[in-house]
Amino acid sequence: EPPSSASGQPEQAQGRGDDPKGTLFVVSAPSGAGKTSLVRALLDGHPNLRLSVSYTTRTPRAGEVDGVHYHFVSRETFEHMVRQNAFVEYAQVFDNAYGTARETLRQALDDGQDLLLEIDWQGARQVRQHFPEAVSIFILPPSLRELERRLRERAQDSDETIARRMAEARGELSHYGEYDYLIVNDRFEAALTELRALVCAFGLRRARQQRKLGGALHAMLESDAEAAP
Ligand code: GDP
Ligand code: ADP
Ligand code: 5GP
Repeated sequence: EPPSSASGQPEQAQGRGDDPKGTLFVVSAPSGAGKTSLVRALLDGHPNLRLSVSYTTRTPRAGEVDGVHYHFVSRETFEHMVRQNAFVEYAQVFDNAYGTARETLRQALDDGQDLLLEIDWQGARQVRQHFPEAVSIFILPPSLRELERRLRERAQDSDETIARRMAEARGELSHYGEYDYLIVNDRFEAALTELRALVCAFGLRRARQQRKLGGALHAMLESDAEAAP
């Protein structure tokens, strides 16, 4: 039973920010803006935050591990999953299909874990429709020139792929207005601090803290009464 508020009224547990379940974070950015690097660094030191592993038809890059970076599947398997309604969202991005499994969401949020989805704007839109309480964050590069420099420096994609991704970058950028929070990834450490601050703040919401501190809050209120002369 939750403790009563100072006014003696029972706590209301409804509305945005009062949901004691895990928080759903959605992070989007044009390719090369640094979202994967930022999210990877963010996960260090946030044990309650899980990263959703997407399904994709893309071929793995050097160093990418099936089940860790993505679930790499064939077109046939992906389409089968679509027909089974296994995805909470999916989208065609560049030449490949990407999707988030319903099961991934259900498991994490029911466990009270925060979950972060690294998905494109089309997917973010679908997630918002199903989960209006999701917290969406858009990562901006400092400039298009720097974006291209990073894509080249990453040295993971062919010149042709880089050209495609640069051409799509404006399209992705044009959707920044649909997101709750904007972070510019100019200096990496500064952007990481900002991202951490957001995740940290949502973990401090009253409903979340009540669930975490439940017993201790109770004890303090009761011992107060006993201590009074
Ligand atoms: P990078 O993140 O740009 O380096 O490249 P990726 O190949 O990892 O991702 C390509 C695009 O697919 C990005 O815009 C991602 O945000 C998007 N994406 C990845 N996973 C998903 C997903 O599960 N659903 C949707 N809708 N988009 C995804
Ligand atoms: P995304 O997942 O958005 O495609 P990545 O995380 O793969 O982007 O980053 C693209 C490239 O840019 C990587 O080589 C990464 O090391 C580099 N990078 C990321 N953030 C910064 C930053 N703030 N300054 C300079 N380089 C960065
Ligand atoms: P990459 O192929 O470089 O790993 O990713 C390309 C784009 O696909 C990125 O913008 C990434 O955010 C997006 N993406 C990755 N997984 C998903 C997903 O599950 N759903 C959606 N909608 N987009 C995704």
